[in-house]
Amino acid sequence: MLLVSNWKAYIESPKEAKELLAVAKKIARAGVHTIVIAPPSAYLGFFTKEQEVSLSLAAQDISETQSGAHTGEITAGLLSGMDVFYTILGHSERRAKGEIDSMVAAKTQQALLHKIIPIVCIGEKVRDENGAYLQGLRAQISAIYEAAPQKDRSKIIFAYEPIWAIGKSSCESITPADLREMILYIRKVIGEMITPTVALKVKILYGGSVSKINAKELTESSGVQGLLIGHASIDPKEMIAISKVVE
Ligand code: PEP
Repeated sequence: MLLVSNWKAYIESPKEAKELLAVAKKIARAGVHTIVIAPPSAYLGFFTKEQEVSLSLAAQDISETQSGAHTGEITAGLLSGMDVFYTILGHSERRAKGEIDSMVAAKTQQALLHKIIPIVCIGEKVRDENGAYLQGLRAQISAIYEAAPQKDRSKIIFAYEPIWAIGKSSCESITPADLREMILYIRKVIGEMITPTVALKVKILYGGSVSKINAKELTESSGVQGLLIGHASIDPKEMIAISKVVE
């Protein structure tokens, strides 16, 4: 499984960041999972050349722009020079600050151009009885593929993160049965936009209140290839437990 830890802005001290890195290395050394950590960008420089222990670095976001007169921007080119291998894009917390599909698509293009694998977050705010949320998900996926070169489309990872399930307790997360349905739907949509055979290779993750309590049931038959983990990822005991229950 691909286990992506999104530390968000929870971590504000280099000491804490280093402690969490040590935990991630320990989990990675067990050799069972591919471990990806997404620290706040100020700490990315601490962690270069970690790949030898199946541990990779992700940015939590990147700029839409290329290098140039763009004060404060963190470009894909800069990150690729720092051994950043993945980037989270279109996280709901960025979308809540005004990021729209076309911006996420432009960031995806930048990431691919610099050989950084985009982990694009998609997900509905609420569910309606008429299924409009399914059309919303389709639109999010379509915006990404329209902007991505055909040859790179299968490299893009999607993280299905229903917004209503983020930052809650595990009992408020999605049910395994609903997750399975959603992953089938997302893969079907992907298949229509690339090809059904290539769609089978696309990695889809789940994120939203994953913990040691629900990680096993959410992964065992839902069809996901990994998890995007938020608040539980900054708790070493929780992360070790999640890595043990997930197969
Ligand atoms: C997230 O925000 O990407 C996330 C999965 O958060 P949490 O695990 O805290 O719900």
